[in-house]
Amino acid sequence: MRNVVVISTGGTIASRWQGDGYAAEAAGSEVLAAGAVPDGVDVRVVDLFTVNSSRITTGHQLRLLHTVHDVLADPSVDGVVVTHGTDTLEESAFLVDLFHDDPRPVVFTGAQKPLDAEDGDAPGNLYDALLTASSGRGIGAVIAFAGQVFAARGTVKKHTLDAHAFGDPDGLPLGRVEFGRVSWGRRRPRPAALPLPPAEAVHPRVDIIAHHSDGDSVLLDAALAAGARGVVLAGTGAGNATPSIVDSVRRAVADGVLVVVGTRVAAGTVAPLYTGGGAVDLVAAGAELAGTLRPAQARIAVLASLLAAVGPDGSLPATGPADVLRRVLRAEPQALPASELYLADGVGH
Ligand code: ASP
Repeated sequence: MRNVVVISTGGTIASRWQGDGYAAEAAGSEVLAAGAVPDGVDVRVVDLFTVNSSRITTGHQLRLLHTVHDVLADPSVDGVVVTHGTDTLEESAFLVDLFHDDPRPVVFTGAQKPLDAEDGDAPGNLYDALLTASSGRGIGAVIAFAGQVFAARGTVKKHTLDAHAFGDPDGLPLGRVEFGRVSWGRRRPRPAALPLPPAEAVHPRVDIIAHHSDGDSVLLDAALAAGARGVVLAGTGAGNATPSIVDSVRRAVADGVLVVVGTRVAAGTVAPLYTGGGAVDLVAAGAELAGTLRPAQARIAVLASLLAAVGPDGSLPATGPADVLRRVLRAEPQALPASELYLADGVGH
């Protein structure tokens, strides 16, 4: 038997009609009961919380991170599934991935249709996630959805309602689940894991500011005044803004705030091409470039870098996170033994 622990956190996969709209209410055992469990897989459920994921906080994410860690302290566990709302699934999955230092996988899944829908996608997605968690190795945190398995890093929610909710705008899925087995494509290198922050760490404020025509530095300055320790600027094009925003970024960096420049464009990398308020000037002002990370995951990169620098007393040091952030953004690969990179033969087929 393969042992998989399902950590239930809510989302549409746990939602039912409330009379005026849907909301998460079902326990993990009810979510599990809605579908089939692959042959040869034994499941234990942990009910962590039950929220729709637009309400997820750093506090929830730290609890999830520590629960994953605690569950994997048991050597008889072969893998973990996290059921999660799709709205912010890519954020929690990437955060867990950045701190994940174990060959056993953490497989995130959810549903686009609620638990009580007759033609719902919850049972199939959960089945695929269980299959992936029971058989994958060395893949970190991944997202199993609509028959595909994506690396957490780089994956976004790409459609509000369609069953194919997730995709990597700059890459291919890691694997596919077909006829009750997972087949893997080319594996991507993963950076070394960050040190686990204390469960009671401070929750640093990290904001996303989107640039647009007629945009100015008012919202960025407001974020800094509100105490942001990190800011992601979702620039136009390949990561561009204005000279006044560059001035605000320079002041923020001088105050120790981590600033990352991403883009509001759906695919492609940011690049230092333009001056006059563009990414060339933002980099010169001390900002880092997000590469192909979309803004919500660039925010998680900043948050994780800050959390990794938190001291044992739970407080944030004034220096240190910037070096960690550069490592996270460059995603330096760690040498994984080939034996850990590919699927140990699957179950359920
Ligand atoms: N609003 C829901 C949530 O993120 C959407 C979903 O789960 O698909 O909790």
